[in-house]
Amino acid sequence: MKKGFVYLVGAGPGRADLITVRGAEVLGLADCVIYDKLANPSLLKFARKDVELIHVPKRIGKGSCTQDEINRMLVENAGAGKIVVRLKGGDPCVFGRASEELAALTEAGIGFEIVPGVTAGVAVASYAGIMLTDRDTSSQVAFITGQEAPGKEVTGIDWNLLAKFNGTIVFYMGVGHLESIARRLIEEGRDAQTPAAVIAEATFPTQRVVRAPLAKIHEQFERQKIKPPAIVVIGDVAGGDTRFDWFMNRPLFGKTIVATRDEEGNADFAGKIIARGGNPLPFVTLRIKPLTSSNEFLRTLAQLGQYEWIVFTSANGVAIFFKALGQLGKDARVLGAAKVAAIGARTAERLARFGVRADFVPNVFTGKELGRQLIGFANLKGKKILLLRSQIASNELVELLGEAGAEVDNVAIYTAETAKRESPRLVNAIREGTADWLTFASPSSVDGFFEQVPADVVHSGGVKVASIGPVTSTRLGQLGVNVDVTAQEHTLDGLLDAIEKMETQ
Ligand code: SAH
Repeated sequence: MKKGFVYLVGAGPGRADLITVRGAEVLGLADCVIYDKLANPSLLKFARKDVELIHVPKRIGKGSCTQDEINRMLVENAGAGKIVVRLKGGDPCVFGRASEELAALTEAGIGFEIVPGVTAGVAVASYAGIMLTDRDTSSQVAFITGQEAPGKEVTGIDWNLLAKFNGTIVFYMGVGHLESIARRLIEEGRDAQTPAAVIAEATFPTQRVVRAPLAKIHEQFERQKIKPPAIVVIGDVAGGDTRFDWFMNRPLFGKTIVATRDEEGNADFAGKIIARGGNPLPFVTLRIKPLTSSNEFLRTLAQLGQYEWIVFTSANGVAIFFKALGQLGKDARVLGAAKVAAIGARTAERLARFGVRADFVPNVFTGKELGRQLIGFANLKGKKILLLRSQIASNELVELLGEAGAEVDNVAIYTAETAKRESPRLVNAIREGTADWLTFASPSSVDGFFEQVPADVVHSGGVKVASIGPVTSTRLGQLGVNVDVTAQEHTLDGLLDAIEKMETQ
């Protein structure tokens, strides 16, 4: 039987987009992923949908695994012919017990590749604006573990040497022993005033940084009630320069932003929120249901040749249309000579993925503007126009185009149903004031949301409301919800821009 293969992959320090390109690539090859507590589970988006997942939290307590068990799992799975990705936090070869796993593989004659990752000690520095080295003050860096292998008799750390070490000291797994680390260093002669910093949950929207002189760092750390994982940086560079604190100074840093779209839409929006340092709280309001097996759609498809214009008013609509085409063994060529209009940049971008360049996109992304501007752009009199939209889209566009003399066929290719689910987590977050912003990207998500969450909750915890555009804001207003900001540009990025602007005012 063919032997499998193991990729030992560094997941990076936390944020899913800090994995390496090679790491993401081999995740896509995996039959089986064995992952640690510190590896961000959202990295699994790079893996195949049918991948086998084995979570191996290596902590004390229920459900945790010993290193021997992990070694055995690796050998068993790869031995059965699978491609295994062993995903470890940070870099696999820095305080990661990689040698034990590799020894087990070598003994079993299983091949492997090591894919490096951004180690936490390096990432915390970038994300806290600390330069680990500095031409003037720090020409060397030491990575130290603050927690040695249990039962080790002689300490592997030479405290005397470390106290004299004229450079930056980075302690992994050190916060549990922070008091004794600082004390030992000072006892051995390190200046008690040496700058020190603790950086916890680095790269996440929950990142925290505590800075104090070495003698005081433990006291400060305790006072702030910070959760691990955390890294301790000691040395002149740890004082930092607040001008370089780019991450925590971002307007959306640490803000909890509730996304209220369908599942896929929320995942997409969450990525944008994280990229700006915010903390997404996804709440599914809608379930998108394709209507592409309807006779009406199939009939329309057979007659696409008669349309002068085909209009898409959402990225969802584009995706559903092309999925249906694919299932019928067809592709973009069915559009033939018809011109294609898209309501906005995202819809146009989705079309481009299927090889279709939109002939027209309005400069304001609403149905009304699409209609108005298309009338100015092309002569529609007596022309046949096909709208491929959601069943619950408003009639405004149809009416506008009709008034301009076009013959409009409006075909529903999907519908959005309210997702019914219990919402205590979200309601609590709002009531307790931990949610900063509620965002709405369409009138249907407004309806889906308020069918599940009582409207009075919104006015309870000081949460603010942001809307993607005027139609959505009107719907919110009709339900008695006060809208704090409406995006100028009616896209998800425009929505986040509007929130950032409010936050920096
Ligand atoms: N192989 C990993 C380190 C594993 S040891 C790497 O290269 O990063 C685990 C320690 O890493 C934690 O105790 C903590 O000190 C540090 N760590 C990991 N992720 C971190 C994060 N996001 N923020 C701060 N420290 C982190």
